[in-house]
Amino acid sequence: MGSPQATSRAEQARNDFAGSHDLGFRLVVWAVGLSGLTVLLLAGAAVDLGVLLRLEPAFWVACALLLAAELRPLFTAGARDSNGLSLSTAFVFALLLRYGLPVAVLVQALAVVISDVARGKAPWRTAFNVGQFSLSWAAAALVMDRAGLDGGVSAPTDLVGGDLLAALAGGLTYFAVNQVLVTCVVALKGGVRWWPLLRDDLAYEAVTNGALLALAPLVVLAVEEGTAFLPLLLPPLLAVYGVAHIALEREQQALTDTLTGLPNRKMLTERTREALGGHDDDVALLLFDLDRFKEVNDTLGHHVGDQLLEVVADRLSGASRDGDTVARLGGDEFAVLLPSTDRVVAEQTARRLLDEICAPLVLGGLLVDVGASVGVAVAPEDGTDLDVLLQHADVAMYLAKDAGGGVESYDASRDRNTTGRLVMLGELRRAVSGGELEVHYQPKADLQTGRVEGVEALVRWRHPARGLVPPDEFVPLAESSGLIEAVTAHVLDVAVAQAAGWAALGLDLTVAVNVSVRDLSGGQLTSHVASALARHRVPASALLLEVTEGSLFAESHRAGATLRQLDVLGVTLSLDDFGTGYSSLEHLRRLPVREIKVDRSFVQRMAADTRDRAIVRSVVDLAAGLGMRVVAEGVEDQCTWDALREMGCSSGQGWHLSRAQPAHVLTPWLLARTRQSELAS
Ligand code: C2E
Ligand code: CA
Ligand code: CA
Repeated sequence: MGSPQATSRAEQARNDFAGSHDLGFRLVVWAVGLSGLTVLLLAGAAVDLGVLLRLEPAFWVACALLLAAELRPLFTAGARDSNGLSLSTAFVFALLLRYGLPVAVLVQALAVVISDVARGKAPWRTAFNVGQFSLSWAAAALVMDRAGLDGGVSAPTDLVGGDLLAALAGGLTYFAVNQVLVTCVVALKGGVRWWPLLRDDLAYEAVTNGALLALAPLVVLAVEEGTAFLPLLLPPLLAVYGVAHIALEREQQALTDTLTGLPNRKMLTERTREALGGHDDDVALLLFDLDRFKEVNDTLGHHVGDQLLEVVADRLSGASRDGDTVARLGGDEFAVLLPSTDRVVAEQTARRLLDEICAPLVLGGLLVDVGASVGVAVAPEDGTDLDVLLQHADVAMYLAKDAGGGVESYDASRDRNTTGRLVMLGELRRAVSGGELEVHYQPKADLQTGRVEGVEALVRWRHPARGLVPPDEFVPLAESSGLIEAVTAHVLDVAVAQAAGWAALGLDLTVAVNVSVRDLSGGQLTSHVASALARHRVPASALLLEVTEGSLFAESHRAGATLRQLDVLGVTLSLDDFGTGYSSLEHLRRLPVREIKVDRSFVQRMAADTRDRAIVRSVVDLAAGLGMRVVAEGVEDQCTWDALREMGCSSGQGWHLSRAQPAHVLTPWLLARTRQSELAS
């Protein structure tokens, strides 16, 4: 019963004596083993073989039942180790009551040896078991003796009603000594405190052991009557066994994940508490999150997704040391608890486990690449309880994910940035829906005629505390979080509405809106554009969309498809920041781009640097050759303005003409400017 993972730790605590360097643990095991052996030797000397052979047939039947019971013990296969529950307790106590201590401990020792050998237990474990049982029964015998009940050593004792009180005291003594000895050794082995260990299991142990001990006097009464009544004791004994079994199974279920059989979060909490409470060593927590699990689930089906989780669970538990806890926290999240592990070793282990789970595998007939991101948090530096450790491992894990997978260790100083980012992201989300985003407009003019032909919409964030925040400080965040699509939709709507407003005033202007890579690959842009144009009754020819070179380079054919759809719609596409990204003339040939914007870094240095001037000149020539318009951005003075005009550049934009302004400031300026050029012509 129980999952391999859940019992292996208990088994290990029992068997791994040689590997233990804990002096206290070794000392207790030796002491218990040796004193138990002494009790046993004394018992052997006290037993008269002749008496044994002349014992009632019922004695032998009881012994046979006892051995059968001992071979089928129940273990607490849950959060803690336990000495297990064996029905033999009822029979040994009965032997103690009727035949005295020597017979009881000899039979008990024989049963333990047979059952431990049958189950391949380590010799030290058997020695300890024999020792602790002998001591517990000896203590019980002593107490009963004081209470006036001494089991007959030479002849069987018949129980009378008055003996029950002494038997009760004896049973309690046995229970107490047995519990303390076993808990102490388990606590010393696992390096945890013994009292919580004892306390947490006490109710369960008391009920089950109490029931077995209470049956012992009935076993004695049955023996007194001969063998005939003994079988009647089996149903109640089996009932105790059955109830205990169900209780353990419940506990087991509550502590393990049904799909993988791994410990769940609850058991991990227990184990973490134990590991942290034990000693001053570091305790490391690794948090694994599978990459692209959702994709596998969505495309190959849940069945395959489950298979993948099972494989990962197997690989993780197969590759982890004994004593580590591999748990599934839910979804595609796994955690590995490494007791007594510092950060360096934890990171190494994380990398090793990651390699292990990343081996490709065939699922549903397809070769699936498994990837994961791992966050590492180490107690006590990164926190001293599971919640804080998990939270910090989570932060580290997201950093790893951001970096494209791999292992990241928690770093408090970086976390402050992360927290700042998260706070800002929350605020930005509210800003988009709460109307804190403003759109300013910067005009651009025909360099030859000086006529203002259009404006570029530039977003700003009116932050309640920080004032007007420039786009460079929040657009990258919006882009990396996916919020940019909402920002773009908002700017688009405001800008197109403004275009309609200006048209109503008789101003014939194009409006340019900046779009990001995420917009182009998101799949929603075209419909947003179409609906904004329709809603405000603005012709597509009045709208420009500025895309950066980088976005065209980085993005898939999805972006290309979006650009073509927009072109079909009649929207003009402008290539922004030209010259700064991965310039590829291929883009200019292949994509429906009608305008190039020379990046302001070249334009600004044009007056001072001949090479920058040469670059701008070649871009202007290139655009002319391709039949495209070219806009110079960042024109800050008359001299640059004139130079650009002489080169044959189509339009100029920059502080020399005007800074970006809110519509209510720019509109009078635009009206005045238009009136001027009308008067001039
Ligand atoms: P951009 O598209 O290259 O926009 C031009 C930037 O140059 C604007 O900065 C503008 O104020 C600035 N600028 C204009 N004339 C001059 C000049 O003569 N000298 C100098 N030194 N600078 C000048 P802004 O408004 O801070 O925008 C910065 C960037 O933020 C933009 O660069 C654009 O990439 C991005 N951005 C702005 N609004 C949006 C938007 O609505 N959506 C997206 N996706 N990005 C936006
Ligand atoms: Ca732009
Ligand atoms: Ca630009």
